[in-house]
Amino acid sequence: MSAEGKNLVPPECGEVVRTLLDRVPVGMCRFELAPSLVLDRLLPAEQAEREWVARLRADARLSECNRELCAILESSESELVGTRLEERFLYGLTNLDEVLRTFLRGGCQLSNANLRRVDSHGNVRALMCNLTGVLEDGRLVRLWGNLRDVTELRRVEDDNLRLAVLARDNPFPVLQVDAAGFVVTRNTAAERLLSELSVDLTDILPPNHLDLVRSCLESALPIHEAECLVRERVLVWTYIPQLELGQVNLYGSDVTERKRNEERLQHEALYDSLTALPNRALLADRLERALHRSQRHPEAQFAVLFLDLDRFKNVNDSLGHDTGDELLRGVARRLLECARRQDTVGRLGGDEFLILQEDLRGVGDATRLAERLLHSLAEPLVIRGRPIYTSASIGIALSGAGYIRAEDLLRNADTAMYRAKAAGRGRFAVFDSGMHQRALLLQRLETDLRRGVERREFEAHFQPIVESRHFRPVAFEALARWKHPERGFVSPGEFIPVAEETGLIEPISRQILEQACREAMRWQRPGAPVLAVSCNLSPAQFSDAHLVQHVRRVLEENRLSPGCLEIEITETLAARNPEMAVRVLSDLRQLGVRVLIDDFGTGYSSLGSLQRFPADVLKIDQGFVRRLESDPSAAAIINAVVNLAHALGFEVVAEGVETEAQLAVVRERGCDYLQGFYFGRPMPAAEVLTWLEKKAQNKA
Ligand code: C2E
Ligand code: MG
Ligand code: MG
Repeated sequence: MSAEGKNLVPPECGEVVRTLLDRVPVGMCRFELAPSLVLDRLLPAEQAEREWVARLRADARLSECNRELCAILESSESELVGTRLEERFLYGLTNLDEVLRTFLRGGCQLSNANLRRVDSHGNVRALMCNLTGVLEDGRLVRLWGNLRDVTELRRVEDDNLRLAVLARDNPFPVLQVDAAGFVVTRNTAAERLLSELSVDLTDILPPNHLDLVRSCLESALPIHEAECLVRERVLVWTYIPQLELGQVNLYGSDVTERKRNEERLQHEALYDSLTALPNRALLADRLERALHRSQRHPEAQFAVLFLDLDRFKNVNDSLGHDTGDELLRGVARRLLECARRQDTVGRLGGDEFLILQEDLRGVGDATRLAERLLHSLAEPLVIRGRPIYTSASIGIALSGAGYIRAEDLLRNADTAMYRAKAAGRGRFAVFDSGMHQRALLLQRLETDLRRGVERREFEAHFQPIVESRHFRPVAFEALARWKHPERGFVSPGEFIPVAEETGLIEPISRQILEQACREAMRWQRPGAPVLAVSCNLSPAQFSDAHLVQHVRRVLEENRLSPGCLEIEITETLAARNPEMAVRVLSDLRQLGVRVLIDDFGTGYSSLGSLQRFPADVLKIDQGFVRRLESDPSAAAIINAVVNLAHALGFEVVAEGVETEAQLAVVRERGCDYLQGFYFGRPMPAAEVLTWLEKKAQNKA
C-alpha cells in the first residue's frame, strides 16, 4: 500500500484492513470511494478466492489498490494510480461515467458486466464485474463491487456451446444430465426417438442410469455400451463426464439391428441348423459347466446319455436325404418331449444326439429316461404320410467317477452306446468301470500296435495242414504273432480286432503276407508236391482296391508260383458284402491263387449262398470239431456240410483237430484236409523245415 493509502485508512482499523487486503485471494475486486466501511464490505476470506481492492477518486481514477490487483493487471501500483482502469487496463466498461451518473440518480447496480483484459502474453482474459453504488444524502459515497476472472469458465461454456451445437445436429440421440441424473438438455434426435417410441425420457435410459452417472463423475472416465431395452429395441449409451459442469453427456445409438445380427450369428454358432437343438460346441460347454458344478458340489450329479440311431444310413440311402432330415427333426422333437426342462438335448452331428440330465438323484433317473426315450422312438414317425420305424442305442455315463475332463465322460457314454449296439440295438447300456478299464487297455494296445508296426514286431508262425488219407502236409497256415517287447507273444485274438478297428491290420497283414511268401519259397523241393501257404485276409484289406495288385507283386518279388498261395476270408466277411466278395475272389483266382472260406458255420450264410462264391475250399469252424465228443448234432452238421460242399465242388478242411476221436470222425465224414494241434501247433518259420524233415523220416 502506498503512503497515501495508509492515511486514508482510519487508524482504528488500518492494520486489520491492511492485513486482510494483503491476504485475501483473487476473485473479488472492491472499489471504494470512502474508506470507512471497508471492513464491513470485505467478504470473509473463505468466500472470496482472491480479492482485489481499489480506491477510486471522485473522478473515478484510481487512488490506491492492493497487490492482488497489481498482480492481476500485471502492473505496479504507481502505474495504476491516477489512471482510469477502464481506459487502459480493462476493456468493455466504456460507460463507467454513465454508470456512475446512474448510480447518483438512484443508487443501482451493475450486474455481471463483461470486461476484458489483455494479459502480458497477449491473451484476452474475461472478467466479470459487479458494481454497487452507495448513496448517502444524495452523494455517492462508495462504489463497491467485485471483479472475477471468468476466462476458464467461459472456455468451458464455449466448449459446451459447441457441444450443444454438435449435439443438435447429431443424428444420434444426445442428452446432457446433471449430477443427479436429471436430463438438462436433449437434442432433436433424442426428441425424435422419444416420439417414435412414444415413451418417456426415463424409459430410454439404462435401468442403472443414476449409478452410471455417479460413477462416471467419480472416476472421471467414460462408460461405454450401457444398454437399455425399450419396446424391443436395444439402445446403448456412452456416458462422457463433463467435470467442470458437474454434468454427464450421453451419446446414444440404436443397436437393435447389430444385436439381432450378433444374436443370429451366436445362435448359428451354438445351435444345429437342422433340428435347432444345441450343437456340439454348446453341449461341450454345458457339459463342462455341469462337471465344474459337480466338482464343487458333489451332490450335483448328472448323467450323459449318448444316443445313436440304429441303421440311420439305411434310411438315408433308401429313402433319400430329405426323409433322413425329416426323421432327424422328428427324433429331436421326441427327445425334447421325453426330457425335462432342466435337461439339455442336443445333436452332436449325423444321427448322434446327446442328453445332459442334471439334478440326478441316482442311476435310476438316467435309466428311466433312457427307457422313456426308447419307448417314444419305438412309435413310428410319419414322414410324408408314410410311417418310418426307427430305433436307437443309448450309452449312459454318470458323473461322479472322478472325471476331470468332459470329453472323458463323452467318450465313456460313447463306449457304453457301442456296448448297447453290440448287444442288439434298440437298448441302452450304462458305462461301468470295467468298460473303462477295457477302454484304457484298448487305448494302450492301440499305441503299442502302432509302435509294433513301425518296429516290425509282427511275424508269422506256421501251422501245418495235412491231407486226410496219409496225413501228408499240403500247406501251412500263416498265423500272425506279435512279439511284444514286454508281454512276449500276444495272440491274434487280442490284437487283430483292435488292428482292424484302427486300420493297422493292413500294414500288419502285408508284413505277414510278405514273410509267408518268402518262407513258402524255401519249402519247395524239385520233384516234390507243392507246399502252399495260407494267409488270412481281414475285412479292411478286402475293401482295399489295390489288394489283388499287391498280392501279385509279392508273389513276383518272391518268385512264388500263385498255386502255392491260398487266401482265407471268413464266412461273415464274404456274406456281408457278397458283390465285392465275388469280384475280389474271382480276381484272386484269376491270378491262380486258391481261395478258402474260413470259420464256416459261425456266420449266418445259408449253405445255398455258398454256391455264388468263387472259392475252392471250406474250412469247417473248429467249434464243431471241438463239440464232436459232447454234442451228437455236431457230427451231423459236419456230415451235411461236407456233402453239400462236395456237391458244390468245394474241398473241405476240418480245423482244430486235437484228439484221436475227433480225427476219426472228421476223417470218416469225408473231410479232405485236416488242421489242428494233433498234427502240429503253429511254429516259428525257422522250425518248419526241421518239422518237414522229421515228418518225412517218420513216413519213411
Ligand atoms: P483262424 O484263421 O481260424 O486260425 C486258426 C486258429 O485256430 C489259430 O489261432 C490257430 O492257432 C488255432 N488252432 C489251430 N489248431 C487248433 C487246435 O487244434 N486247437 C485249438 N484250440 N486251436 C487251434 P490263432 O493263431 O490264435 O489265430 C486266431 C485268428 O486270428 C485266426 O483264426 C485268424 O482269424 C486271425 N489271424 C491270425 N493271423 C492273421 C493274419 O495274419 N491276418 C488276419 N487278417 N487274421 C489273422
Ligand atoms: Mg484262418
Ligand atoms: Mg478258422
